[in-house]
Amino acid sequence: MIKAIRGTRDLLPPDTDLWNRVEATVRDLFARYSFHEIRTPVFEDTQLFSRSVGEDTDIVSKEMFTWEDRARAGSGGASDAGLTSGSGFGGGSAPGAGFADGTGYGGGRGQSLTLRPENTAGVVRAYIEHQLDKVGKLQKLYYIGPQFRRERPQKGRYRQFYQIGAEIIGPSSAGSESPARDAEVLEMLATLLDELGLRGWTLQLNSVGCAADRARYNQALRDALKPVVATMCADCQRRAETNPLRVLDCKVPEDQPIIENLPKISEYLDDACRENFAQVRAMLDAVGVPYTINERMVRGLDYYTRTTFEFTHGDLGAQSAVLGGGRYDGLSESLDGPKAPGIGFAIGEDRLILALQAEGITADAPLDAYIAPLGEGMNPHALKLASELRRAGVRADLGDGTFRLKKSFEAAEKAGAKYIVIVGGNEVQSETFTVKELGTGKQELVARANLAEYLRRSH
Ligand code: AMP
Repeated sequence: MIKAIRGTRDLLPPDTDLWNRVEATVRDLFARYSFHEIRTPVFEDTQLFSRSVGEDTDIVSKEMFTWEDRARAGSGGASDAGLTSGSGFGGGSAPGAGFADGTGYGGGRGQSLTLRPENTAGVVRAYIEHQLDKVGKLQKLYYIGPQFRRERPQKGRYRQFYQIGAEIIGPSSAGSESPARDAEVLEMLATLLDELGLRGWTLQLNSVGCAADRARYNQALRDALKPVVATMCADCQRRAETNPLRVLDCKVPEDQPIIENLPKISEYLDDACRENFAQVRAMLDAVGVPYTINERMVRGLDYYTRTTFEFTHGDLGAQSAVLGGGRYDGLSESLDGPKAPGIGFAIGEDRLILALQAEGITADAPLDAYIAPLGEGMNPHALKLASELRRAGVRADLGDGTFRLKKSFEAAEKAGAKYIVIVGGNEVQSETFTVKELGTGKQELVARANLAEYLRRSH
């Protein structure tokens, strides 16, 4: 039997009903905040991620699905060949191999491609590529889609997972740098979780300052780590040299007491960043969004500046972060784009669903009616009735005339229908149908003209 690959999974009903409810709520709410959808490719140039997320992050150094793509023949059918060449991710084929094989695909060098591990980099790449800065207004963009990281799979952590994210990005003159945007995004997230009915969340907030603050903080960390780093894990030892901030991402239990005693970022913020963070907090207080300050929370991506945040949920165990995000004021420039400060977040949709389910929240959309034809000859009539009812907004399932009445009732129960509607010759002739409520056994004759309204009463 061929099975789904480790770390990937099938989403099945009734779970998918909840996924759809979440996504419908998200789309409706984001529209109220004037966000519009963006869809970027699932794979991108590897450099996009190494230059934005950062070489020393777990994501880039260990978790990306990267492959060397040899489809460089330009336009035409042959250019698909590299995708089906079977070289796989991290497989043995050497980059550039196969070019001299005489198939005619060659002529170019292999290009390193990566399945997107996150979507902010792709959005900012699209912002730059399509010169969205020229529009002169803030871009408020959201996405919903799969992301890929080669992590050790466990509950709430998958190799293909889904993120719902949004970004506000634009020229400073359009107000993209304002702390009001940070507060607006955080208030929107609190409203979203409230509208979904989720209760047990906590907003953890921090400021990682601007590039200059972080340079000073990194130096302070480097100095503080020097006498102790030899006892720490291999990742910390490497990062203490290359990117000490990333030491704060370490999850190794033995390293935690050392990390707790390291200098705090708040001591290294300049006046402007300190003031900016104070304004974000004041606006959250004004709008009544509760938060706790967590100075360890520097987030596992290099592009963040100033405000960073995570929403956690108590029922999620080790993988408690439902969503994370922050400001990324230098990201566009680091990808050769114009100055375009921005702030965004990504919700882990898989974890959001787990949190909702842990709180007993489902997305029941019960079936209104099961249409049961009495005998094969009634199939066309039943189909016609079902068509009428469905067009009138009734959620209806259709049986089969070969079923005996008893089997139809069983099927209706299994389908979770509220009513069963019997379609026999007499009913069709008289334009009046026997409708039975399955829960109570109550039975009524209902005229065809009134039937849709009768069945929809339960909505
Ligand atoms: P990040 O892009 O790392 O800031 O992650 C944002 C959110 O995506 C996290 O808070 C998680 O909810 C979710 N997430 C990240 N990695 C995974 C994963 N491997 N499996 C499931 N959800 C994930």
